[in-house]
Amino acid sequence: MSYDPDNIFARILRDEISSDRVYEDDEFIAFRDIAPQAPVHIVLIPRGEPPVSPTGLTDGDAGWAGRMLVVASRIAASEGLTAGGYRLVMNSGANAGQAVEHLHMHLLGGGLLGPVA
Ligand code: 5GP
Repeated sequence: MSYDPDNIFARILRDEISSDRVYEDDEFIAFRDIAPQAPVHIVLIPRGEPPVSPTGLTDGDAGWAGRMLVVASRIAASEGLTAGGYRLVMNSGANAGQAVEHLHMHLLGGGLLGPVA
């Protein structure tokens, strides 16, 4: 699937849609989800035009994709989630309910989470 430069997260990156940013660096931004599924619900996204989902990843993406995981851990710490624990989720495609086609990671925490499945 080709990347739509007008998807919601691309527009958040361009500040065409406002968001509550909690983190940014040269590669990533993170902001609070507009419809939180946990007391803390943050969406972490790469800048630019990444694959639309994890399905599009190749070996060449291993560097930044690994750094994305490290950044998620750092944000969890800055949100005070390390001791209590948290969940990282990446949806890919229709069966997972993926709504925005710009690869992203959910960070959920701040309370007891239900089972994954
Ligand atoms: P997905 O279901 O694609 O994995 O996750 C997309 C997420 O983006 C959903 O949790 C949804 O609530 C969030 N979202 C959709 N539109 C907006 C928006 O305009 N602002 C923010 N902050 N989050 C959004």
